[in-house]
Amino acid sequence: MNIIDIITKKRNGGELSNDELEFVVNSDIPDYQLSALLMAIFLKGMTDMETIGLTYWLAKSGKQFDFTDDSTFIDLHSTGGVGDKCTLIVAPIVAACGAKVAKLAGRGLGHTGGTVDKLESFPDFSCNLSPEQFENQARTIGIAIGAQTDEITPKDGELYHLRDVTGTVESLPLIASSIMSKKLATGCPNIVLDVTYGSGAFMKTKKDARKLAALMKKIGNMHERKTVAVITPMSEPLGNCIGNILEVEEAISYLSNGKFPSLGGVDAEGGRGGSLPDKNLQKICTLLAVNMLELALSMNPIEALKSVQEVVQNGKALEKFQQMVEAQGGKWTASFPQSKIIEKQTLEDLDAYKIGDLVRSLGGGRLKKDDKIDLTVGVKILNRTTKEVEIHKN
Ligand code: URA
Repeated sequence: MNIIDIITKKRNGGELSNDELEFVVNSDIPDYQLSALLMAIFLKGMTDMETIGLTYWLAKSGKQFDFTDDSTFIDLHSTGGVGDKCTLIVAPIVAACGAKVAKLAGRGLGHTGGTVDKLESFPDFSCNLSPEQFENQARTIGIAIGAQTDEITPKDGELYHLRDVTGTVESLPLIASSIMSKKLATGCPNIVLDVTYGSGAFMKTKKDARKLAALMKKIGNMHERKTVAVITPMSEPLGNCIGNILEVEEAISYLSNGKFPSLGGVDAEGGRGGSLPDKNLQKICTLLAVNMLELALSMNPIEALKSVQEVVQNGKALEKFQQMVEAQGGKWTASFPQSKIIEKQTLEDLDAYKIGDLVRSLGGGRLKKDDKIDLTVGVKILNRTTKEVEIHKN
């Protein structure tokens, strides 16, 4: 077996066998050949059987955890979006309600941001947890967010970085296998997926989002994980802040329910994290949290909603966030490096793709695999009706 034959087979629209998929995942293949294969998959697609096989081998490329002994464990993943800081808000809420969240997250991908980059806004914070640390932390404090490392889903990490810079992100089988390999490796018995559609998402139509959701659910259920997918719109950015530090500030502001003491004390209309939570962000976070509590703690929706409101109002969710940041080496702060407002603009529309792409092009995301990103870069929506925005950069 050799990689050139495999690339050629896929280029010609053939179906890769399980052995060929194992070879791709378990061999040391140079970036240029993996990139060619990714483009062939992007153009020719994969059957469900191929996607299921690829997911299986990706999950097995590193250490796999098993939290199925504790039914309160739950994992959460979004298929990507602009301004999507739901994980930063929902994971601490759900953990504060008594469920346990163990999650592997990703970095920015294409025009979208990633949870790992966002969390690195906290000085010294790391998602590169050893397997022992990931498991201990998840079991003891009830929340751990790790990343692919050399030990955990390493092959997804390799493909993810290549896809980010080779125009091969928006592929249904590549997204499904990337996400579900991390979910299988994490080993939680319950999974909630936020499948986005619209200009800022990788699936542009609701129909494609449904297809992606159905495939991921099928993979989860095949592995005896209770899997729920919610389908949410992503035509405008989620929340008012887009960009790593700005999004962490918005998440903190949300969790502190307006009471967080030192968010800069800037004006309420679009101040640094000072404005009220954006309606859609609130709606989607609540939807995800309620679904997670129904699965992990068998709560009914009314009980779940009450618990969510309670832990935001009494500050327990914010405390959980801080506990996680500190457990992962981060310095808890609400005073992140202040970016300069380089421009105020009135946009024609709040198209999520255009705004995500703008943030990436200003240095908030990567154009090359090893690019260092500027965490201060971002766009803040000051007024959703007049479409007035601020552009931040140091
Ligand atoms: N999130 C992932 O982890 N992978 C993708 O391909 C898209 C979103």
